Amino acid sequence: MPRERSVLNPILAEGDIGAIVKLRLSLWKEQRDQKSKDCESYEIALRRHTFRSYSQMTILHAFTFNAFGERTYLLDHGDGGATVFDPGMSTKNEQEEFAKFCDDAGIVPTQCLLTHAHLDHVMGAAWIFERWGLKPRLHPQDNLTYEQAPRAAAVYGVQMSDPPAPGDFLSEGERIRCGSSELEVLFTPGHAPGHVVFVEHQQGWVVGGDVLFERSVGRTDLPGCDPLALVKSIAEVLYALPDDFEVWPGHGGATTIGIEKRENPFVNAAGTGMMQRG
Ligand SMILES: [Zn+2]
Ligand SMILES: [Zn+2]
Repeated sequence: MPRERSVLNPILAEGDIGAIVKLRLSLWKEQRDQKSKDCESYEIALRRHTFRSYSQMTILHAFTFNAFGERTYLLDHGDGGATVFDPGMSTKNEQEEFAKFCDDAGIVPTQCLLTHAHLDHVMGAAWIFERWGLKPRLHPQDNLTYEQAPRAAAVYGVQMSDPPAPGDFLSEGERIRCGSSELEVLFTPGHAPGHVVFVEHQQGWVVGGDVLFERSVGRTDLPGCDPLALVKSIAEVLYALPDDFEVWPGHGGATTIGIEKRENPFVNAAGTGMMQRG
């Protein structure tokens, strides 16, 4: 197993994490012990949450929501504020789990960002707006998908409330302040026409949506997909980042640029992946 993998499971690597995270972890353990007496699903809730401390102030939390196993991220700014990425909470339970987590951790979400607008990434947008008044910000080329998400949900037979009007559109190269962190918006079309990723260059991590997964890549068989554009986004945008940058994808566990360059069977740095390069 590659060495980098060990740092990607912070719950197991307690020794690596800072004091704030230890505090949070003990809080979670306490809650779990208390709750497990009368709530069997709490263990599942705990397993569905993981996090990584990037500084004393910055913690990235990952939740798994909805029927598509989508990863919703919450960046704790360390100053009481937080950024929500791709809100996918789709049931009352998932909404309550997220709200309780924020309340217990003393976090109030202050902005909502989308990597793209497929329905699994926006199912919680209406609830986020209702609860915290946040309009999601997305790239304009995904706005049509965003508006049509409830119709797409109906096709899949899942219920979804109409999302709010979006906030200010994201632009390529824009820098977004999140407490002491700063995210750069990089344009990565292919899986969706207006797909973007958010890169924290100082701390070395990416909220990557459905572009690059652990040993896999985003689907290219949906309306608006472009397989060549996806390969280009991975090879020219993501693989241009340093090897030790951690990628937190829209589905599944975290990985690093270096691991995927070596081992991704679809797009590897040697150019021998399964996807044809343009
Ligand atoms: Zn998607
Ligand atoms: Zn997705």
